[in-house]
Amino acid sequence: MGLIKCLDCDRHVSLNADHCPHCGNKRFREQYFERQKRWEEEEIRKKENDIQKAKELKFSSVEEMKKAEKTKEKNLEIFEWVVDNSTNIVITLAIIIFLLWKFAFSR
Ligand SMILES: [Zn+2]
Repeated sequence: MGLIKCLDCDRHVSLNADHCPHCGNKRFREQYFERQKRWEEEEIRKKENDIQKAKELKFSSVEEMKKAEKTKEKNLEIFEWVVDNSTNIVITLAIIIFLLWKFAFSR
């Protein structure tokens, strides 16, 4: 318990140590907590951005917006799949049409 990462050497150090035993970094604790704080501030900013964006795009909530984004992504994936497989799809359709045509004229 109480292990944090030294940002200079990327190895774990006990919170109680007064310097990093791996690289001798004396500021490992401050560096870690500064980064932690920056990360938290970044998270808050992201959340505020999302709320702002949802408002601008007239979504009732951030969840609604995220859901819509996911649906959009999914549709894009399907579209990309169709584009990637367009040759196969065309060939398959051609074979089906050919077989239907052959069947129709074989009677
Ligand atoms: Zn270190």
